[in-house]
Amino acid sequence: MATSDKLETEQPRRCPGMKADGSPCRVPSEMLLASGWCLLHDPARGADRTGNATLGGVKAGAKRRKGLDPDALGKLETPEDAMRISARLTIAAATGELAAPQVNAALSAVKEWRKAYEADVLDKRLDELERRGAR
Ligand SMILES: [Zn+2]
Repeated sequence: MATSDKLETEQPRRCPGMKADGSPCRVPSEMLLASGWCLLHDPARGADRTGNATLGGVKAGAKRRKGLDPDALGKLETPEDAMRISARLTIAAATGELAAPQVNAALSAVKEWRKAYEADVLDKRLDELERRGAR
């Protein structure tokens, strides 16, 4: 049959979309739209609708939460500041004032800051010791 010959030589069409778990979309080629996408992933139809709905919900949640007041939080200049801010963030997480991903991002930023601060302080102390030793 002419049609089966044609099917063998042609690559089966696949939707370029991804499923929520990151694996390729497996919608059968006969269900793909003219654009080559399946109904769910066609960008002209608003891409992955379920994905958008989830993302929209997250964004709306983030918008409702204003975050912490920068004036109340204060500056991050000393290890004491870092401890104060970490404590404040922990309370914000416990009370639901901030979303967990926000708190985690902020806490890891404070941690990075402390690492950099400590490395900087050690560097300066080492410089000082070297200067004294050179005398
Ligand atoms: Zn698809």
